[in-house]
Amino acid sequence: MKPLELARLSLEGLSVGDAFGQCFFALDDAEAAIASRRLPDAPWYYTDDTEMTLSVIASLARYGRIEQDTLAADFASRYSYERAYGPSMHRTLARIREGEDWRNVANAAFGGQGSWGNGAAMRAAPIGAFFAHDLDVVREEARRSAVVTHAHDEAVAGAIAVALGAALWARCGVDGRCPKGDEFLGEVASRVPESEVRSRLQRAISIGSSATPGFAVSALGNGTDMSAPDTVPFALWCCAHAGDSYPGAMWLAVSAGGDRDTLCAIVGGIVALRVGVAGIPSSWIACRESLPVV
Ligand SMILES: [Mg+2]
Repeated sequence: MKPLELARLSLEGLSVGDAFGQCFFALDDAEAAIASRRLPDAPWYYTDDTEMTLSVIASLARYGRIEQDTLAADFASRYSYERAYGPSMHRTLARIREGEDWRNVANAAFGGQGSWGNGAAMRAAPIGAFFAHDLDVVREEARRSAVVTHAHDEAVAGAIAVALGAALWARCGVDGRCPKGDEFLGEVASRVPESEVRSRLQRAISIGSSATPGFAVSALGNGTDMSAPDTVPFALWCCAHAGDSYPGAMWLAVSAGGDRDTLCAIVGGIVALRVGVAGIPSSWIACRESLPVV
């Protein structure tokens, strides 16, 4: 597959996961539905995870790279309150839309620390798919995509980790190497900058595949605080140990509670690259509202 086709495959998995995960916030009996693997009723509406990823895809399609000024403007122009953005993104994207330079806005967030939310990681998988031929380029383009809205090093590390996971599996069909389980986590962690995200990825390796989801959540987090360190390591643990099945990985991710739509978006964007479009159930794709063409 060509790079843009791989990125679009990742988008398909990401958007179905995002919309699937979001449904469980509205279910009165979410835990029972998960236990019995009962799909939510259609339609499944996607959220900010998909909306912002559409901007990433547009940049890759138009420029063949992350063009930061255009990406920032596209994030701002696509913003819609109904897509359930994280609290700080309402302000950030409003200021960018009013004409402020994204560098000033992103760097000023949270008293000058920049956001360390999971919003950069949630849209990073297609970047790994697109640049999978060169993992150094994956890291740099993921970083460039992150800092447009999330200047904190942890948010950047989260985006890099997700993009690397996607890249490793986008390469499966090319070089025949498809690292799984702890090998997958180790290959990602070894290339992520020193950070809490990286520390928790290393902790994820020590957990192994036999742990219960509840134990993994207690050790790694589940995105309850919507930060990158609290979200990305558990999502990659789900990929590592359930990534041979798109539905299996989704049910594992959504069982964690926490930031369900973003956990499922990250997992879906990565696992799609390993299982291919045929591995995403057509019935699930049919439940997700249709995507705009970018
Ligand atoms: Mg969301």
